Amino acid sequence: MSASQSQILTTLHRAVDAVEQRINAACDRAGRKRSAIQLVAVTKTLPDNLIPLLPEAGLDVLAENRPQVLWRRHELVEGRARWHMIGHLQRNKIERTLPLVELVHSADSLRLLSAINQLALSQGHRVRVLIEVNTSGEENKGGFAPNDLERNIAAINDLRAVHVCGLMTMAPLEEDPEHCRPCFWELRRLRDSLASALAPAHSLTELSMGMSNDFEVAIEEGATLVRIGSALFGDVATGSGASG
Ligand SMILES: *Cc1c(COP(=O)(O)O)cnc(C)c1O
Repeated sequence: MSASQSQILTTLHRAVDAVEQRINAACDRAGRKRSAIQLVAVTKTLPDNLIPLLPEAGLDVLAENRPQVLWRRHELVEGRARWHMIGHLQRNKIERTLPLVELVHSADSLRLLSAINQLALSQGHRVRVLIEVNTSGEENKGGFAPNDLERNIAAINDLRAVHVCGLMTMAPLEEDPEHCRPCFWELRRLRDSLASALAPAHSLTELSMGMSNDFEVAIEEGATLVRIGSALFGDVATGSGASG
């Protein structure tokens, strides 16, 4: 490892500690256990050459929002990290992406869910997904509108090779994270209301919500997965040639 890499590793360790402290504090406020929340490290701002350092910094659940980038980076930490897909997944990228990920957070349409189901059926296994919900109503955001999801429950129940493990949402970018709380509250309400309508083969245990700006509020509102990028990597992504 070069001198600059070990310096970066020190910076990463510090950032992980700081985020962990914030997660723990939010858990304390909410009366929740730290073990109920999984930290998902979003690597999209990092350059490729830093990816192999992440497991050493204690980050072994990694996520990308672009399939091609995930494919490439998966190889860089083969066997040392698990990957989640958190961005829009085009149907022609499913086949190559699914074997590489343990969870798709961003199942954002019935068409995509059906396509995943068909592929999984032909391969004889079940695929774990979260359904993305547009809780903010912003037009530039993907995902099911809450009403839409409620209307589509029967169709989702028919997907035998998809295991819907929970819901995911992205709150709007707000300066005051308190303003994100209604989105998180809405996702949890939706989860509670759908849980009994969904076939027992599914289990809506997961709530993927909370990013760097708002993860503490999300934890207070019941997040089980927080997707964190800039709070972990802001200090190393700048000046190291990262783009995107
Ligand atoms: C980029 C991204 C994140 C992480 O955002 P930060 O604000 O950098 O923590 C989380 N979720 C999704 C879907 C993203 O695209």
